Amino acid sequence: MADARRLVGRGDSRTDADWADEFRQLGVRTNADTPEDAARARAFGAEGIGLCRTEHMFFGEGRIKYIRAMIMAADESERREALEKLLPFQREDFEGILEAMEGRPVTIRLLDPPLHEFIPATDEEIEELAAELGKDADELKERAAELRETNPMLGHRGCRLGITYPEVYEMQARAIFEAAKKLADRGVDARPEVMIPLVGEPQELSILRELVEKVAADVLGDDTDAVPFHIGTMIEIPRAAIVADEIAEHADFFSFGTNDLTQMAYGFSRDDAGSFIKEYLKRGILRKDPFQSLDKRGVGALVQMAVDKGRLAKPDLHMGICGEHGGDPESIYFCHRVGLDYVSCSPYRVPVARLAAAHAVLRARIRGIM
Ligand code: PEP
Ligand code: MG
Repeated sequence: MADARRLVGRGDSRTDADWADEFRQLGVRTNADTPEDAARARAFGAEGIGLCRTEHMFFGEGRIKYIRAMIMAADESERREALEKLLPFQREDFEGILEAMEGRPVTIRLLDPPLHEFIPATDEEIEELAAELGKDADELKERAAELRETNPMLGHRGCRLGITYPEVYEMQARAIFEAAKKLADRGVDARPEVMIPLVGEPQELSILRELVEKVAADVLGDDTDAVPFHIGTMIEIPRAAIVADEIAEHADFFSFGTNDLTQMAYGFSRDDAGSFIKEYLKRGILRKDPFQSLDKRGVGALVQMAVDKGRLAKPDLHMGICGEHGGDPESIYFCHRVGLDYVSCSPYRVPVARLAAAHAVLRARIRGIM
C-alpha cells in the first residue's frame, strides 16, 4: 500500500489520478469507437476499451450507402452482397482501434440499434437512395414501411438482429478476426473481445457464440494462439440478470449495460423520459436521475443478482459496466462494492473514474470500521 503522505505536496510529478491508481481495485476502461478516442483515453490512463459501438462506424464517409443497401436488401443474397462491401471498412476500423489499444482488451459490440435508424425518413431521401442503388423507389418505400417499428427500443435490435440476419454478425466477426490477425502478423498485440448485446435468453448467446467461434476458427485456422480473444455479453435486460447463471455458461465476460437496464427496470423510455424526470426530481419522487446515477435499490439489485449468479456458475467470470454510470463517482462506488472488475466510461471521464475508484476503496474501508 502506498504511503499517501509521501506524495502530497512533495513535488511528486504524478497526477492525482496516478496516485489514485495505487489504491484502486477497479480497472478503468473507456467507451470509444475511433482510434482517436482510443488514443485520447489511453493518454488519460484507460486500460482498455469497455465498449466500442460498431454502429457508429457505419455512419462514416462512404459507408452509409452500403449499410442502407444491406438493410433494404430484398433477400439474403442481396444482403450478403452489401455486407461484402462493408467488410473492408469494418476491418480497417477494427485494425485502427485494436492497434491504438495495443496490449489491452478491446470490447467490440456487434450491431445493436434498430435497423430503421439507418433508413432514410422522407420520400425524397428514399428516392435519392433508390437512384444511388439503382432500385425502384416504390419498392424501397415498401421495404422502409415494413421495417418501421412502433416501439423500436423493444423491437428488432441487439442480438435479435444476429439471430434473424446471422450474416451481419458473421461479417462483423470476420472483420474483427481478420483485423486482429493482420495486426498479429505485424507483431502487434491485439486483444479483441466480442460482445453480444441485448441477450435475455441463454440460447441467444449460445447460438451467436457458436457463430463467432466458427468465424474465428475459419480466419485463424490452427493459429489460434496468435489472437487471444474472448466472447461475452451485455447484461442489460432484467431477464438476463435473473437468469445470469444460465447465461454465464456461454460467456467469458459480462458487461452491464445500465442504460438499457435502467430503461427496462423502470419502464422509462430513454428517448422520452426527459419529459417527466425533471418533475419527478423537483417533487422528490426521484432523488437523482437514474440514467445518470445508478439506482442502487432497484437496478443495482439486478446488477448484484447477476454478479452473484454469474460468479456462482463461473467463478472467474470477468465483469464490468459500460453504461453511462461507469463515469459517475457514486455509481463507481457501487460497482466497487458489488465486486465488478472494471468500469468503462467516456475518454474525458477516465481520470475522474480512476480517482473515484480509489475513493471507493477508502470509503468502503471507512464504512467497515465504523
Ligand atoms: C447500455 O445499454 O447501457 C449500453 C451501454 O448500450 P447502449 O447505450 O448503446 O444501448
Ligand atoms: Mg444498450
